[in-house]
Amino acid sequence: MMDCIFCKIAAGEIPSDIVYQDEDLLVFRDLNPQAPVHLLLIPKAHIPSANQLTTENSDVIAKIFERIPALAEELGFDKAGYRIVNNCGEDGGQTVSHLHFHLLAGRSLQWPPG
Ligand code: AMP
Repeated sequence: MMDCIFCKIAAGEIPSDIVYQDEDLLVFRDLNPQAPVHLLLIPKAHIPSANQLTTENSDVIAKIFERIPALAEELGFDKAGYRIVNNCGEDGGQTVSHLHFHLLAGRSLQWPPG
């Protein structure tokens, strides 16, 4: 997707603060952090949102979630806890149309969110 900012980040065309990457997924720090740790976890392949997940493209979701415990341990918030968020579509507050999960940690997070 030529006009997708997260595809450009995944391709290395736009700089980002990368925490982890492999063939299928990329983890980088959010530009506008909402917590002391605020990571974005994305599939490298373009999937617009959770609403476009299918049996053909959903393997990467397991890969993303399997990576989370290792990230939590490496960054030191595994014991304190964290929150994983996906915003889907306009009412969900999604502003970037490339599927991503927010991983927030480092402070006590309120529920429900605003
Ligand atoms: P959402 O509102 O769920 O679509 O989340 C999009 C997130 O992407 C927001 O938290 C933005 O701060 C973040 N964001 C947008 N552009 C960049 C960028 N170039 N690098 C890092 N994070 C970004």
